[in-house]
Amino acid sequence: MECHYCKGKMVAGKTAYSVNRKGYHLVIDEVPAFVCTQCGEPYFEEKSIQLIQELISQVDERAEKIQAVGA
Ligand SMILES: [Zn+2]
Repeated sequence: MECHYCKGKMVAGKTAYSVNRKGYHLVIDEVPAFVCTQCGEPYFEEKSIQLIQELISQVDERAEKIQAVGA
């Protein structure tokens, strides 16, 4: 497997996945991923992306509730 950007070598490892949403930022440490040894670009498994998307939609709902307090 080679990097889509720089053709560098990809190795299995773990990296942080950060999300910037309206009203909050979320960082999940140590998500399994293939990481480029040359430019550091991470590639996440489809399963990981799916689980993160689920997490984000749940956090979105709750964040809206928090932001609506006192409004
Ligand atoms: Zn690369």
